[in-house]
Amino acid sequence: MTDTPERKPDVTRSAPVGSVDLRAFDDDGTPYAIQACLDCYPWYAEVALAEGEILVREWHAVECPTFLRLIAD
Ligand SMILES: [Zn+2]
Repeated sequence: MTDTPERKPDVTRSAPVGSVDLRAFDDDGTPYAIQACLDCYPWYAEVALAEGEILVREWHAVECPTFLRLIAD
């Protein structure tokens, strides 16, 4: 079976995952809420420290529509 444009994205538990780093706080220092992704099954988040800044690292299925939107920003 070959891929077609109508193929559904692979967002199952065993889908390959990728990460995106997001700001943990807004300009006023208020923490952003972390909400589970409704578009993919393997989503999870972790706290990361990068160059002294605290970040939220979200992991999504690489084909997750929300992930693709996040990395496009
Ligand atoms: Zn997702």
